[in-house]
Amino acid sequence: MQQFIDSYDFTGKKAIVRVDFNVPLDENFNITDDTRIRRAMPTLKKILEKGGAVIIMSHLGRPKKVDPKFSLSHIVDHVSECLGVPVQFAADCQKADEQAAALKPGEALLLENLRFYAEEEGKPRGLAEDASEDEKKAAKKAVKESQKAFVKKLASYADCYVNDAFGTAHRAHGSTALIAEYFPNDKMFGYLMEGEIKAIDNVLKNAQRPLTAIIGGSKVSSKLAVLKNLVGKVDNLIIGGGMGYTFIKALGGHIGQSLHEDDLMPDALEILNTAKEKGVNVSLSVATVCGQAFDNDTPRQIFDIYNIPDEWEGMDASPASLENWRKIILASKTILWNGPVGVFELPNFAKGTLQIAQDLADATAQGAYTLVGGGDSVAAVTQMGYADKVSYVSTGGGAMLEAIEGKILPGIAAIQD
Ligand code: AMP
Repeated sequence: MQQFIDSYDFTGKKAIVRVDFNVPLDENFNITDDTRIRRAMPTLKKILEKGGAVIIMSHLGRPKKVDPKFSLSHIVDHVSECLGVPVQFAADCQKADEQAAALKPGEALLLENLRFYAEEEGKPRGLAEDASEDEKKAAKKAVKESQKAFVKKLASYADCYVNDAFGTAHRAHGSTALIAEYFPNDKMFGYLMEGEIKAIDNVLKNAQRPLTAIIGGSKVSSKLAVLKNLVGKVDNLIIGGGMGYTFIKALGGHIGQSLHEDDLMPDALEILNTAKEKGVNVSLSVATVCGQAFDNDTPRQIFDIYNIPDEWEGMDASPASLENWRKIILASKTILWNGPVGVFELPNFAKGTLQIAQDLADATAQGAYTLVGGGDSVAAVTQMGYADKVSYVSTGGGAMLEAIEGKILPGIAAIQD
């Protein structure tokens, strides 16, 4: 049965808390962005305040074996600083029995990177490239078997389980989903997860209308399932960024050197047809800022999106497209944004994406509910200083995308089941 942080009695209990401390580090192992650490603090602090102790677990990077570069020891001091209590460190997440047993109320222990063990992901490692299907199957079976003991060991440290790692909620890993089995009556979401789930529900389940989704980014292929799910739910679908050119080409436009995926043109047309049948307004770019090379200093010129000359490439939304989109955004009551509407990493082609961040902040000020997710969209909102001027900034790129595809995330199901 699912419990809730606010009503659960943590007095004298040890909580094992899955967080997402997968933070970027520079070459000297300094944290370059501690957002993920800060966003987990309300949950950890609350448990300590309520008389519990916390055993914190996370992954960092994608190590394929024990690798000091990916050690969570690099962040333990910063976590202590943020939490306001000294955090102890367990150098092996499978050998923390004594440290966990000795924890007193108000104390915290951080376990070493869970992904030092293949069992966390439950995927075999070190398989020869020419391994046969039988060998692959046997290796998979072996890691699944040993995964049970791995998860059981983690569970043995604690009295209750809290999942506050939205960034990994779309993974059915040991610490994100399987461990919940050991706490049938003592499992709950942390505040961050609660916030993310509510934000997605505000858009997908309880949206105030009109509901608008702005989907950008590089490829139709990576967001096909998102587009297919949203087209049945929204009132307006704004499609921008690199993926827009596949739609324009499918509609007979001439897109020059712009990014496109020919094999996805039928899907693009199907999305447009579904939208028409359902009365959804799809808004594509009308004109586009083009460059002659994928370079910040390349010459720029605006062309009609259906008539881009051969040697030019569409790289950012034009003022005319942005004006259309701003009108739609400001007339909406709920807005979801995922993906840049131009090549955001090149400052000369970031204007469109920054303008969308501005539009969302303005819509929020008028009372709309706005949810922003995905690396570049979040970066644009943050760069404008608007992280507090939109309703919710998601911490999970992949997890948010899977949620808006309409999938049930394993990390969420494991608690709600
Ligand atoms: P995604 O990860 O799918 O959200 O895509 C983000 C990437 O889309 C960024 O790296 C952008 O540079 C890229 N992108 C956006 N618009 C364009 C465009 N017009 N041409 C090429 N890449 C683009």
